[in-house]
Amino acid sequence: MPVLKESYKSILNDLLNKKVDLVAVSKTKPVEEIRELYELGHRDFGENYVQELVEKAAQLPHDIRWHYIGHLQRNKVKYIVPFVYLIHGVDSMKLLKEIHRQGEKAGKKINCLLQVHIAREETKFGLDESEVNEIMHQSAVDPLNHVQVLGLMGMATFTENMDLVRREFRMLNTLFSSLKNKNPDFSILSMGMSSDYRIAVEEGSTMVRIGSLIFGDRN
Ligand SMILES: *Cc1c(COP(=O)(O)O)cnc(C)c1O
Repeated sequence: MPVLKESYKSILNDLLNKKVDLVAVSKTKPVEEIRELYELGHRDFGENYVQELVEKAAQLPHDIRWHYIGHLQRNKVKYIVPFVYLIHGVDSMKLLKEIHRQGEKAGKKINCLLQVHIAREETKFGLDESEVNEIMHQSAVDPLNHVQVLGLMGMATFTENMDLVRREFRMLNTLFSSLKNKNPDFSILSMGMSSDYRIAVEEGSTMVRIGSLIFGDRN
């Protein structure tokens, strides 16, 4: 299926005026479709699976900024650290330490976001507020020099209830703002997907992750 160019352009237009970055989520989509969007000038792409990301990155131009947005297992960190632009889903201190360790080996500083659990569902990964504060506290006391925590990421409940979605995004933005006061590096609030990105933007998102509105439904 071809890229939904009109839809892509209208999202881009929508976000441009608001200074919100767009990550095009290309999981399960072939490299040809990524290239199609690349040729329109797009550079930020998001993937959920390590092996898929590694294979695609090898076949595509090196100036693509790859966002890892899935759940990351510690034993797989080493495969993406050499080239990843931003890891959105950091959900434990152990994982952050492993990213630091691999960053050190690669001689790089890896950009990360802490994933916060804001949804009602039990299954979604992420930290609660006190765990986020604990990680930020520990990183202040004993800095990990090869990671840079740039902000937070979250996913709202999968529901038709847009009031609930809005409340969850608002909660995340409140936490983000309070951390931003103490952490000058904090600049990214990654929230909003195809079904809820407009609400996310209204509630302070600085980066949305959109798949199906750009690439069509996934198989
Ligand atoms: C798949 C995915 C997206 C994109 O979802 P769409 O509904 O297709 O826009 C965004 N964020 C994460 C974490 C995802 O896994």
